[in-house]
Amino acid sequence: EERFKLVVVGGGGVGKSALTIQFIQSYFVSDYDPTIEDSYTKICTVDGKETRHFIHTLIKNPFEYMLFDTGTANSCLPSPKSYHEVQKFHTQILRVKDRDDFPMVLVGNKADLEQQRVISREDAQAFARENRIHYMEASAKNRYNVDEAFLELVQIIRRF
Ligand code: GDP
Ligand code: MG
Repeated sequence: EERFKLVVVGGGGVGKSALTIQFIQSYFVSDYDPTIEDSYTKICTVDGKETRHFIHTLIKNPFEYMLFDTGTANSCLPSPKSYHEVQKFHTQILRVKDRDDFPMVLVGNKADLEQQRVISREDAQAFARENRIHYMEASAKNRYNVDEAFLELVQIIRRF
């Protein structure tokens, strides 16, 4: 059995829990429970292999969490609220991992709320390109690109 430990990083309210619960349990949580952290496990088959995903969502300070975490395939999937926040999380993750590259997928969640967009698609794409990370837009509400985002991350970790 392959095991992946995925960390969903982002500010409060960006949809970390909603994305994770949609991935794990296939339903949309419409109310906001501002819990700081939550953890989930999902077993599924990826490319014919049984795979166990441990997913941890956390609101801030990936630095401290990852510093004390000794897990192997540790990885991150930030979902942005502001451009500054994306840069901050990205920098913190690379610093704590002491690398120039680390498996990450930048997820622009709430794609169903296009009118309230905070970061333009072009800016997000440019940031992702500059930093050699994958960018995708998703909606926990519409179950759009939810499995894809997590599975993309798993593929990236495998190649890392
Ligand atoms: P977290 O603090 O990052 O875990 O945020 P939550 O997952 O609790 O989501 C915060 C709020 O945004 C909740 O009311 C969710 O229902 C809502 N939300 C999350 N994802 C989406 C989405 O893709 N579309 C819309 N319209 N609302 C979402
Ligand atoms: Mg949450």
